Amino acid sequence: MAKSQNNTATKSSGSKSSTSSASSNSTSKNGSDGVSKENANDKTLKKLFEQGLQDIYSAEQQLIEALPEMAKAAFNEDLEDAINNHLEETKKQASRLEKIFDRLNIEKEGETCKAMEGLIEEGKKILQEYPESPVRDSALIIGAQKIEHYEIAAYGSLCELADVLGFYKVAEVLDRSLAEEENTDHLLTDIAKDVNDEAMEMSETEEKEKEYV
Ligand code: FE
Ligand code: FE
Ligand code: FE
Repeated sequence: MAKSQNNTATKSSGSKSSTSSASSNSTSKNGSDGVSKENANDKTLKKLFEQGLQDIYSAEQQLIEALPEMAKAAFNEDLEDAINNHLEETKKQASRLEKIFDRLNIEKEGETCKAMEGLIEEGKKILQEYPESPVRDSALIIGAQKIEHYEIAAYGSLCELADVLGFYKVAEVLDRSLAEEENTDHLLTDIAKDVNDEAMEMSETEEKEKEYV
């Protein structure tokens, strides 16, 4: 089969890879960690790592604000306790990140996690729409798990990046937060079983009452 002759005008369109490797650099950037000649790829990955840290830090800050309200809104006591316990973990996670910023000499501000803003907003909307009940608890858990999954994705990828970049101690610290997010997710799954059963019973009772009216 004729290989499509792709020598048709490779018009250097936009040339995404235009980071001229001849970087006889004008900047004399000496890494204090002894790594003298970082290539462009390393810089990009490190930057990505820094932005990722700032993003999850912003997310954790937003959660420290939002979780008390979510806990208060819970009808089921186990759910309320789980959210309150996770609030304490969230505060620890934020201070772990602050230590990482100090260690790596990174500004902690810089990113606003828009995704977390959206997830929290969705959660609040549900709380306004539903009266306090097992059904609302079901919704609360769904919202909380979406939040945990976002954090799991963030910490999971940051652990990988820290490893690749050679920040092994930082990777260990991030892994602790990752484990807390995963445990919270599993705990919420367990609580959801009871809460969903209660919510279903309540819905069935309401349906029956409607039939007899
Ligand atoms: Fe967190
Ligand atoms: Fe984000
Ligand atoms: Fe979390």
